[in-house]
Amino acid sequence: MSWDFETEPEYQAQLDWADAFVREEIQPLDLVAPDLQFVPPSKALAQVLDPLKEQVKAHGLWATHLGPELGGKGHGQLKLALLNEILGRSPWAPHVFGCHAPDTGNAEILAHYGTPEQKDRYLQPLLNGEIFSTYSMTEPHAGADPKEFTTRAVKDGAEWVINGWKYFSSNARTAAFLIVMAVTDPDVSPYKGMSMFLVPSDAPGVNIVRNVGLANEQKLGDGFHATIHYEDVRVPADAVLGGEGQAFAIAQTRLGGGRIHHAMRTIGLAKKALDMMCERALSRSTQGTLLAEKEFVQGYIADSYAQLTQFRLFVLYTAWKIDKYNDYLKVRKDISSIKATMPTVLHDIAQRAMQLHGALGTTNEVPFHQMMLAAQIMAIADGPTEVHKVTVARQLLRDYRPSKDPLWPDQFIPTLLEAAQEKYAHYLEQVGTL
Ligand SMILES: Cc1cc2nc3c(=O)[nH]c(=O)nc-3n(C[C@H](O)[C@H](O)[C@H](O)COP(=O)(O)OP(=O)(O)OC[C@H]3O[C@@H](n4cnc5c(N)ncnc54)[C@H](O)[C@@H]3O)c2cc1C
Repeated sequence: MSWDFETEPEYQAQLDWADAFVREEIQPLDLVAPDLQFVPPSKALAQVLDPLKEQVKAHGLWATHLGPELGGKGHGQLKLALLNEILGRSPWAPHVFGCHAPDTGNAEILAHYGTPEQKDRYLQPLLNGEIFSTYSMTEPHAGADPKEFTTRAVKDGAEWVINGWKYFSSNARTAAFLIVMAVTDPDVSPYKGMSMFLVPSDAPGVNIVRNVGLANEQKLGDGFHATIHYEDVRVPADAVLGGEGQAFAIAQTRLGGGRIHHAMRTIGLAKKALDMMCERALSRSTQGTLLAEKEFVQGYIADSYAQLTQFRLFVLYTAWKIDKYNDYLKVRKDISSIKATMPTVLHDIAQRAMQLHGALGTTNEVPFHQMMLAAQIMAIADGPTEVHKVTVARQLLRDYRPSKDPLWPDQFIPTLLEAAQEKYAHYLEQVGTL
């Protein structure tokens, strides 16, 4: 029997190194070079970043999201989870460790479904951290329901011609290529009639109409989430990823990995909020006592710890299951459940930390507003919470059957008692209660 919550000492030593490295070397970078993660680095920034990346490589922790069977240096999802919860504290850290979204998920589907030529052209430079990529799936009129997508790819001789609109195609403005989901056969079920295309971002007809910014970004149209009009974009036949009609299956792989990786990093962000909450509780006095001694505050801390620990264990357990089955689909219920839980956990802990910081909590001098926005983004990106809850319920219900008697539940005590009395009649006769 093996049932263990401990990390092996060798890997724990690597994690300890990563923890100190992120705190001392990378978190300061978050302050001096904010919002530059998806911009090709200037010479000056590269001079800072490259030696940091070299240190990560020397410690064997570069791009560990893909295992050796997929051409990476990874150690599986469980170890990745333990690393990602450290990296989640800092926007720059996943980049310095070569495992940032959305490129990780894109690398994963290239590794799973790409031809050797596609891997040479796109996967290797992605894993080397030389290029950025975009996953271009959501359409303006239909985000949460891919069955409604209308972007169309039509064969013309040896080429495909793509037409349609996509939005929230993150980082398209700096990506070298886009993975575009399009209808290739409108006459069959959408589950079989859509395909994924690898489209170089400089292909004629890839028109970025707007670069949408998030709520905390001031300048309109200067964000990183592109609305794209694909207008007669021509790609060769070998630009299809994983074969015609495979888009839904590929999307499940893509989004399964993406969702759990976000959850891993969210643990780190929520832990940062809890750390700040505890520090504040021990630092601020009012009406004669520390905040830490007020029962309301103790409640905030206890609730936050319980929420975070439950969430963390669920994520680690799911990561362990993915390693065990090597298949996201088999773990879909758990991934969706985590995805649906994540926004509330991060929101609640960040909000309580914000509250305990009083006026300061509402300012741009502490990181809570970004955490609150991140929580809301987690409730939408990669599918809204509601849709994931539906998935969980459907999957769970598959393992249940209606009650034998439609009128009374199987646990209806009068029926159970009757059966129990029959089973133990000999005992009841002896003690005389029958
Ligand atoms: C920061 C960020 C980055 C993103 N990056 C990418 C990217 O790189 N590539 C990409 O393709 N997409 C990306 N997305 C898009 C994201 O995947 C979609 O926003 C998401 O799938 C929801 O689609 P929608 O916004 O059109 O919402 P809608 O489909 O309009 O849904 C709106 C709301 O309706 C409700 N709702 C929807 N369906 C149901 C249902 N079945 N039952 C009950 N209620 C429901 C939910 O409350 C939902 O939030 C990103 C989104 C964000 C916020």
